[in-house]
Amino acid sequence: MTIKLDVVTAERLVYSDEVDIVVAPGIEGELAILPHHAPLMTMLHPGELRTRKGTDEHSLVITGGFLEVRPDRVIVLADAAERAEEIDIARAEAAKKRAEERLTHRTAEVDIARTEAALQRSLARLKVAEKIRRRQRPIV
Ligand code: ATP
Repeated sequence: MTIKLDVVTAERLVYSDEVDIVVAPGIEGELAILPHHAPLMTMLHPGELRTRKGTDEHSLVITGGFLEVRPDRVIVLADAAERAEEIDIARAEAAKKRAEERLTHRTAEVDIARTEAALQRSLARLKVAEKIRRRQRPIV
């Protein structure tokens, strides 16, 4: 028994597959969805979305959005999403640094909520990218 998952943004279809389980960063905590889960609609935090199909695991970063469980599928409508291997680490590091500097040297022009959100997006990207990098590191 599997469940169909589509992860979409306004720009593109990021991920689509039949999987055994979806684990998503819900605003009230991690959410595990198995086949035959009751219909549900929830908001998502910036964080990692994981899927597993047999022994095949995938990791994506979601910067926020909505998740809907329908009887026949799970749809994630994300603000932005990248597969772990698509994450540009240097870009995320730069975004993190920019946000941290804005928060340290606050001026009247700095929109704190917007900067905090940018920082959370960059941290989520770095966390997912680092996890994948460690998994791919050779044992010897
Ligand atoms: P930046 O300040 O670097 O643009 P951001 O957090 O403001 O980062 P978003 O608004 O979340 O960027 O995303 C804009 C677009 O750029 C989306 O299509 C997103 O997938 C892509 N994107 C942003 N950062 C990265 C990254 N580090 N690696 C890969 N794609 C990224």
